[in-house]
Amino acid sequence: MSGTPTTAPAQEHLNPFEIVQKQIDEAAGRLQLPQHVIDILKKPKRVLSVSFPVKMDDGSVQVFEGYRSQHNDAIGPGKGGIRFHPDVTLDEVKALSMWMSFKCGVVGLPYGGGKGGVICDPRKLSKGELERVSRGFMEAIADFIGPDKDIPAPDVYTTPEIMGWMMDTYSRLKGVNTPGIITGKPLILGGSKGRNEATAQGCVYTVLAALKELEISPVGATVAVQGFGNAGRIAARLLAEQGCRIVAVSDSKGGLYQAEGLDLPKVFALKDHSKLADYGAPYVITNAELLELEVDILIPAALENVITGANAGNVRAKIIAEAANGPTTPEADKILQEMGVLVIPDILANAGGVTVSYFEWVQNLAQFYWTEEEVRERLSQRMHASYDAVRALSREHRTDLRTAAFMISIKRISEAMSARGWI
Ligand code: GLU
Repeated sequence: MSGTPTTAPAQEHLNPFEIVQKQIDEAAGRLQLPQHVIDILKKPKRVLSVSFPVKMDDGSVQVFEGYRSQHNDAIGPGKGGIRFHPDVTLDEVKALSMWMSFKCGVVGLPYGGGKGGVICDPRKLSKGELERVSRGFMEAIADFIGPDKDIPAPDVYTTPEIMGWMMDTYSRLKGVNTPGIITGKPLILGGSKGRNEATAQGCVYTVLAALKELEISPVGATVAVQGFGNAGRIAARLLAEQGCRIVAVSDSKGGLYQAEGLDLPKVFALKDHSKLADYGAPYVITNAELLELEVDILIPAALENVITGANAGNVRAKIIAEAANGPTTPEADKILQEMGVLVIPDILANAGGVTVSYFEWVQNLAQFYWTEEEVRERLSQRMHASYDAVRALSREHRTDLRTAAFMISIKRISEAMSARGWI
């Protein structure tokens, strides 16, 4: 370790679209690709912007806006979630669709990248309003997507229930039952066993591989999880099952820290029925404090840009496993690498979700469903193989895991573009 750098840049660019372009440049530079190949990769192929009216419970009509971006379909149809969040922007959705291409490339799925977003705050919508927003958005994008064209899934603040409504809307519009249009559905509508835990499960496999490499036993290893949605919450539970000590968790309102380990069943009950802060005042911390705790494993599992040039120097974790998309900026990456922190990049660490989405889609197309053991076994095999491949390439090129992961994907996508005669 060479110590903590003292200067952070005055003005760091936090636009995710610019960030992913930087990451492409970094990896493509090492692959010595021609400029036109890099130019293709640096922009999504197609972007749709929609607005649609929704009748609210009070009788008013509200107009919602949303986007769907398809990055690159050389390897296969677009794939990626739909997020519902008040801060959704077009640049964010474009960047997320690009990360999806590279994510699918790292784990070798026959997909390109796609992503969607609706500007809304689902926490402020009634269930009926949420259903009408979900169906309205699906109706607005239906002609743009398809089971062989672009396949959505859950993302931040979207759920299996929402996927079920969207699948139903699409199927009604087309007059054909089409489970393969979307993944992350409820089991009864063709969802896959193990999909709900898949992002967290995949992340845990990568964490266990990293711990092994650093010769840290999972038993007693300390963990801080930022974000308590599907990925963060389940990752905390699965790591606790491996013997890890979950010392901190947080949601968008703030966090909890208890050095001897949190009482997880109590934390889950508070999250579901009241609020985390009711755990007890002495344990309450901020999200910013959580990121700087001295732990073995830090799991950012919420949104982009939480570890930046401004706070990366204060990180005291040994391993960062990015369950979220884009939590670490390029500036922070540099600092963390200098400090010797092992960062398992998003496109690898959270690829378990889309991997089991792929399994779900395969099961839908075949109309033949797998057991939970089959899903888990195939996921484990793919995550471990991908981790090993990224690790090996990072050693060969003396680079960080993110750059190595991008290199693997970019190589695959360029091969497909070349085989199709595009380049
Ligand atoms: N939203 C998840 C992601 O960012 C899952 C995407 C999918 O299953 O298609 O990877």
